[in-house]
Amino acid sequence: MTTVTKEAGAPVPADAGAFLSVRDLHVSFATEDGAVRAVDGLSFDLERGRTLGIVGESGSGKSVTNLTVLGLHNPMFTTVEGEILLEGQELTTARESELERLRGNKVAMIFQDPLTALSPYYTVGRQIAEPYMKHRGASKKAAWERTVEMLGKVGIPNPRERAKDYPHQFSGGMRQRAMIAMALVCDPDLLIADEPTTALDVTVQAQILDLLKDLQREFGTAIIFITHDLGVIADMADDIMVMYAGSAVERGTTEQVLRSPQHPYTWGLLNSMPRLDSDLGTPLAPIPGAPPSLLNPPSGCRFHPRCTFRDRVGGDRCVTERPLLAPDRAAACHLTAEQKRSIFVDEIRPRLG
Ligand code: SF4
Repeated sequence: MTTVTKEAGAPVPADAGAFLSVRDLHVSFATEDGAVRAVDGLSFDLERGRTLGIVGESGSGKSVTNLTVLGLHNPMFTTVEGEILLEGQELTTARESELERLRGNKVAMIFQDPLTALSPYYTVGRQIAEPYMKHRGASKKAAWERTVEMLGKVGIPNPRERAKDYPHQFSGGMRQRAMIAMALVCDPDLLIADEPTTALDVTVQAQILDLLKDLQREFGTAIIFITHDLGVIADMADDIMVMYAGSAVERGTTEQVLRSPQHPYTWGLLNSMPRLDSDLGTPLAPIPGAPPSLLNPPSGCRFHPRCTFRDRVGGDRCVTERPLLAPDRAAACHLTAEQKRSIFVDEIRPRLG
């Protein structure tokens, strides 16, 4: 188990051995209507060669967390508190020049839409070669050879010729592969993949996931894989962190979270997933309601307005008291361990099939 999460207000010492250690991270944006608390007390560790899957609906804070790790937030409008330690180096106070050095060299990101990362004005090959020259001090010729090698690794046919193409000459799947080549060209120690396959058809998606696994085996990269798709997470992640309204609500190994989930929100996510073995006519069961506004989040447990189990806790505890995440395998929920187990076994699992 490599991931440790805990809510705000309950300090956990950073794991000295972790490659990436995030502690009590708070990220808020100033808006005309007030501060939006996009990340509200998040802690986790990640070791080299491991994949942490972060799941949650839109607005759960998963993408903001990772943009903050990369230093890609706008400091004019964003307040960041807490610690982000990369091999012991504090990133929240690092200069932009230092973050720039880390990005593309030690840390890289794959975005959902390759067109946000690839410029239409330069050839694909040039865009892969340039970070290699910049961060590794390679000559133009060596960088071009490296580019051809990387395009071949990500499965672009005839890479020496295709490197001279512009992004619009590539298909969507090929652009995604090119972006992966660009992200991996400097052998980053940490790769953040934000919904990297959402826009692709299932065949290309499966190829790209296999590719990431192969590359991780080869380079020992630590990966943060962000998605709302628990099926993809089951395939990719060693550990899972479930986020809701800016906080972690459940975490554990992939097997623990998927086989015996403990949080009502995780139950809802699992229940709303389409399954290959169910009848086409079987309706999905979406989680009732919508994620809360982070301008004015609900009191107590942030999930309480949507939770169908809060009556089992008794009194108004779910509305008044925010549940914390314990430092071991846990869910941030006031239900007792026995309640979580019996609700899952008797009421949730039969619905999951
Ligand atoms: Fe539901 Fe209460 Fe648990 Fe929140 S703390 S998930 S409202 S039962």
